[in-house]
Order: sequence, then structure tokens, then C-alpha cells
Amino acid sequence: MKRIRANGFSGKVTKRRSGILIVMVEIPDELKQLKRFHGHLGPFVVIGYRMGTIARKKLEGKIEAIIFTGTKVPLSCIVDGIQFSSSCTLGKGNISIQEKDDAQAHFVSDNNLIEIKLRDEVRQRIESTCNRDVEEVMALGLFSEPEAALFNITSVESTQFGRTVKLR
Ligand SMILES: [Zn+2]
Repeated sequence: MKRIRANGFSGKVTKRRSGILIVMVEIPDELKQLKRFHGHLGPFVVIGYRMGTIARKKLEGKIEAIIFTGTKVPLSCIVDGIQFSSSCTLGKGNISIQEKDDAQAHFVSDNNLIEIKLRDEVRQRIESTCNRDVEEVMALGLFSEPEAALFNITSVESTQFGRTVKLR
């Protein structure tokens, strides 16, 4: 059995007699854990995972998340991805969800606010092509796409946000 690596993924290649190459892509460990946490691996939970990871990288200390997806699946799967990677959780009360049907999240630390919005064309691409058969493949693709291809990220530095930020 041959192994290949491409785009950050590894996989096993088998060649059938017909000459067709079959590539079984292996899911990275962090996505396996995300799948176990969320119940399935789809594009929006990975989008949330990426958002939370960006926030963790850019902000220091305690952070608070405000998510604008609403609570309707599949868009709300973003919430679980964010909980998984940002350490903002409903149980701790440092996350809130707004009913806006918007693939956007704000992360607030003592002196920074980061707005992360999924690009409209990416959301359209997901919603027009995703189904149960291809969701893991789409999820893997979104996991490795560059930040700038997926999101519009706005960072605002201020001392006004702090822990006094009032969630709407
Ligand atoms: Zn989901």
C-alpha cells in the first residue's frame, strides 16, 4: 500500500486493476476529536473551528465570543466548532448566540475585538453543494484552505472593550 502526502493531508493509495487510483484520505487527529465532540464532520463545524483557532492565536488571556449564526442547523454547527477551539463555552457563560442567520463571530479580549466573517461566496459554495455524501470531503478542504480565502477578518484595538462589554 502506497502512502501519499498532499496539501497537509496523508492518505493511502490503492490501485485497482482497472488502473483507477483510489485515495483514502486520513482525517487529522484534531478533526477526529472535533467529529467526536460534534457528532459529525461537516463544513460549518470546521468553519467554527477555524474561527476559534484564529481568535485564540490573535487574542491573549480570557476571551468572550458573540456568534451571529442563530441556533438553526447547519449554520449553527459553527457554534460547536468555536466552543471546541476557542475555549469559549456556553457552560462558562463566555459565549452568546445572536439570531442573525449570519456566518460571523466576534471575539473580545481585554483590549481587542476581532470580527471574523465567513466570505459570502464560501457560504454559498457550502450551501449549494454540501450534502451527507460529500460533507467530510468539504470539511477537510475547508480545514486546509488559507484564512484569507475563507474569512474577512477585522481587528479593532481598544481599551474600551474589556470585561465590561455588554452582550446584546
Ligand atoms: Zn453539524
